[in-house]
Amino acid sequence: MELIDKTALYKISYGLYVLTTNDGKKDNGMICNTVMQVTSNPLTIVVGINKSNYSCETVLRTKKMNIVTLSEKCDFSIFERFGFASGKDKDKFEGLPYWKSQNDLPVLIDITNSFISLKVKEAIDLVTHYLFVCDVTEAKVINDDNSMTYDYYHKYVKRKVDTTKKGYVCTICGYIYEGEPLPEDFICPICKHPASVFVKL
Ligand code: FE
Repeated sequence: MELIDKTALYKISYGLYVLTTNDGKKDNGMICNTVMQVTSNPLTIVVGINKSNYSCETVLRTKKMNIVTLSEKCDFSIFERFGFASGKDKDKFEGLPYWKSQNDLPVLIDITNSFISLKVKEAIDLVTHYLFVCDVTEAKVINDDNSMTYDYYHKYVKRKVDTTKKGYVCTICGYIYEGEPLPEDFICPICKHPASVFVKL
């Protein structure tokens, strides 16, 4: 029997956040689920960011970010906007209402229940990701709406799968590849995740 059943890791619960930054030219945001408070005195938060995200190099350079906690009111369009495109050449905030916290970074309204402003103390290289160890510089509750969890997103927010189609579905965004077999090096055209996150319909 396999010693490591990777599906056991799916039982770890995660929240979902928009991580906001500014590269000196424009505001940017990405969807992030790797956020955790590790100590309370000193108040320390760790955040993991994939090196392929433009936000990763921005945080390495500017040493600051906001974690904006999404609420259950957030719909799929926010995940499409912030999760499935790069902010390098695109203004992800276009037409979206937001304000700025004291560190001059964006805080979204309506779809969030709190925000935390972070200053990076240390960046740990984890091969594919950086783990940022951060101090909290500002934190506010916006409302009492329930926080969005990864589980809630998968159950209620993600695009519903069209069960009349045959092929492979992306478990992250719901895109369906209609073909057989799914190429090993396939990349989801919507969310850019690899073939390994696809399951057969
Ligand atoms: Fe996808």
